[in-house]
Amino acid sequence: MSTSVMWFRRDLRTSDHPALCAAADAGDVVPLFVLDPLLLASAGPRKARLLASLAALQDEIGTPMVLRFGNPVDVVPALVAEIGATEVHVSAETTPYGRRRDATVAARLAQTGPGARLVATGSPYAVTPGRVLKESGDPYRVFTPFLRAWTEHGWRAPAERPEVAWRSGVPGERLAPAEGHGLAAVGERTARERWDEFVANDLTAYAGVRDRPDLDGTSRLSAALKYGELHPRTLLADLRADPKGITADGSHRFAVELAWREFYAHVLWHRPDSAWRDWREDLAGLRYDHDPVLLERWKQGRTGFPLVDAGMRQLLAQGWMHNRVRMVTASFLVKDLHQWWPHGARHFLAHLTDGDVASNSHGWQWVAGTGTDAAPYFRIFNPVTQGRRFDPNGDYVRRWVPELRHLDGAAAHEPWRHPRGHAHGYPERVIDHAHERSEALARHAEASDQR
Ligand code: FAD
Repeated sequence: MSTSVMWFRRDLRTSDHPALCAAADAGDVVPLFVLDPLLLASAGPRKARLLASLAALQDEIGTPMVLRFGNPVDVVPALVAEIGATEVHVSAETTPYGRRRDATVAARLAQTGPGARLVATGSPYAVTPGRVLKESGDPYRVFTPFLRAWTEHGWRAPAERPEVAWRSGVPGERLAPAEGHGLAAVGERTARERWDEFVANDLTAYAGVRDRPDLDGTSRLSAALKYGELHPRTLLADLRADPKGITADGSHRFAVELAWREFYAHVLWHRPDSAWRDWREDLAGLRYDHDPVLLERWKQGRTGFPLVDAGMRQLLAQGWMHNRVRMVTASFLVKDLHQWWPHGARHFLAHLTDGDVASNSHGWQWVAGTGTDAAPYFRIFNPVTQGRRFDPNGDYVRRWVPELRHLDGAAAHEPWRHPRGHAHGYPERVIDHAHERSEALARHAEASDQR
């Protein structure tokens, strides 16, 4: 019987796992994870989250995970030679770095011995990026037609959980059991429970409350999806099974949000350079400031705009921020403080446990107006009106900004209107929004004239 390697990356689960099924079919399986110093260096809070998730996976498979440090380009072929394996099974990677890495690993494996090869089956997406194209063969550049084509393309039913003959006894670093990681429970089982609970209690109301940061109305599954503790197809299958059908408000809306995740992976697949550069090259001439002091005030949640500060502090405290507030804080950095979006995107990636280059960079570019689906540039978020609308009682702001807890209701959104609004050290506003809004529009007009 031959031995193959299951090289886990963004797929830390055992159910609905096509690559694991393929590995199990090929013989006994060595479970591998490579701690790549290049990815770990920028992982921030994701490192602890990752180790905890790996520990949960190890518990699930009941065999010690083979954990190796180093560049996968060296580590994976070396392991294959060491244990006499032939196939290395993976879920296809779609980020620019992952694609380059896998191409090199595949080339090196081919030199390792007869038949040694990298076998990619499935991906972290319901529809693998690159598959949905216009009839002309060009990629979609706008979400709504992509959504239609993606839905029409469809996806397979979830894969059955395979019987795997895990092979143990291969040397590697030891991974402490899941309870040794000091994090709230994570991993496939926990994610599945969270999802079932969300479907039972929150899905019906989701469409109506998903924009409200003061209500706990979203799934909070972004980090689980990031690590592949759940596959999106598993979720889509459950949405289809909704007795009211996928067209029911909540199910439909949730599927659309998953489609945004797929869309951004698709955009990055076709334009790997857009990870850190403007997707719209025609706006490359937009003028930005570089003000490290203002940037720092924004990062610390001390801009004097309550909704912005609440969001930035939630990010630092929890490694997560509500989607509506991600939009408002991002808009504030780009359009009120006139900083180039990658400065903000890097800060987000440094702190988000769900930090994902495709969703993050393209979420930022959507706000900055340099990405796909650019909202008309004049639609600039007003942080005060957004606060009054989406956090109507000020609860979210008071939760994250203790200096404003003495203000009742929506008054927390405008401390400057209250005689004692700044009595507990809350900072004055760093800019005048109306003024900076005009400035942003002027800069946009100037960049457009240059085209
Ligand atoms: P839910 O509302 O429960 O949504 C379910 C799932 O759909 C999410 O877990 C996520 O996988 C997907 N999803 C929802 N909204 C979006 C969206 N706008 N774009 C892409 N996928 C979406 N999401 C990340 O996963 N990683 C990031 O690094 C990231 N950075 C962002 C940066 C900015 C500036 C903005 C505006 C958005 C970003 N998002 C990112 C998208 C979104 O904010 C999060 O996915 C969402 O807040 C996660 O919370 P949830 O799981 O409770 O979402």
